Amino acid sequence: MSRIRLEGLSRRFGSTVAVDDLHLDVADGEFVVLLGPSGCGKSTVLRMIAGLLPPTGGRVMLDDTDITHAPARERDLAMVFQSYALYPHLSVAKNIGFPLRARRLAKAEIRAKVEQVAAVLDLGGLLERKPKELSGGQRQRVALGRALVRDPGAFLMDEPLSNLDSKLRSTTRTEISALHQRLGATVVYVTHDQVEAMTMATRIVVLNHGKLEQVGTPEAVYDQPETVFVAGFLGSPAMNLVPATLHSVDGSLTVRAAEIDLPLGIAADLPDRPVIVGVRPEHLAIGGAGLRGVVRTVENLGGEEVAHCLVGEHTVAVRGPRPIGVRTGDAVGLRADPKHLHLFDPDSGRRLTWQAAPVSV
Ligand code: ATP
Repeated sequence: MSRIRLEGLSRRFGSTVAVDDLHLDVADGEFVVLLGPSGCGKSTVLRMIAGLLPPTGGRVMLDDTDITHAPARERDLAMVFQSYALYPHLSVAKNIGFPLRARRLAKAEIRAKVEQVAAVLDLGGLLERKPKELSGGQRQRVALGRALVRDPGAFLMDEPLSNLDSKLRSTTRTEISALHQRLGATVVYVTHDQVEAMTMATRIVVLNHGKLEQVGTPEAVYDQPETVFVAGFLGSPAMNLVPATLHSVDGSLTVRAAEIDLPLGIAADLPDRPVIVGVRPEHLAIGGAGLRGVVRTVENLGGEEVAHCLVGEHTVAVRGPRPIGVRTGDAVGLRADPKHLHLFDPDSGRRLTWQAAPVSV
């Protein structure tokens, strides 16, 4: 298996900067997910690693070899596409064995390897079928099989599940994760689906306009977003973000949002400054003194409900077990534990942290 290192990787298309000075280390056996909205540069990064697109700056290292300009076929990497890219006139067995025939392996050896991979992916009974006789999930497994059979240094996957329906997406997701754990393979995986990123990644790389916003474990990226962008991208609904003022009341930090003071329980005397305060919908509770709002709608998600409340001029989402206990038009108080409040600089969008002793309560 392999390590992949990107050193200042960049790609321009005319005046568009698709990828901007990206530095990233993918360790041997890691499952790294490139996550971000449409057009943020995820596929461009993957295609540069695969050798399908030349960078306009920077280097791609595979282990300690500079492969920036190596032809795609000479890179020890296997790519799995969203479109499966199967050969329609070839059987499943021939599709899976294709890379081995290209390497001119003996027929018996190819057959043995194809059967081994088919067993891993539960495709044993389908080897003589043509792609059109398969379901979407089965086709995707054949595409995975064709990558697996090469036993590559690393797998590059570009939204491989996006053509599947939601149930199949969830089972195939579990299969890919299990396969990764069993093989200990290095994977770089592109998606805009945060559930895929949260459930499969050992580390998530969040991209925005070709730039790296944050790299970290799913927990770190969700619990400690480094930027307003990351806070607003992850989570469903995303983190509530409201402009506020940070000020000190009797030597203790307090956030003033929608005309309400929310004490942070941190001792510090700072001059007043504008901030953006963030709180996840699941960290807000209904009832008690705190922000005051009016419920506009309640969404039923099955096991949970989300109440969208108007607080001042902002809509704030609250998520909780169903029934959440409020109805459209209700006046509500919203409260949060100060430890669940996130503060960001409105200009740079970066997370604010400070060193101070907590106030004892
Ligand atoms: P999606 O999730 O929609 O696939 P993405 O994050 O993978 O998006 P890319 O496909 O990498 O985004 O594109 C990044 C930027 O580069 C976009 O602004 C896109 O329009 C631009 N781009 C990509 N390929 C080309 C190309 N061949 N010519 C010109 N611009 C391109």
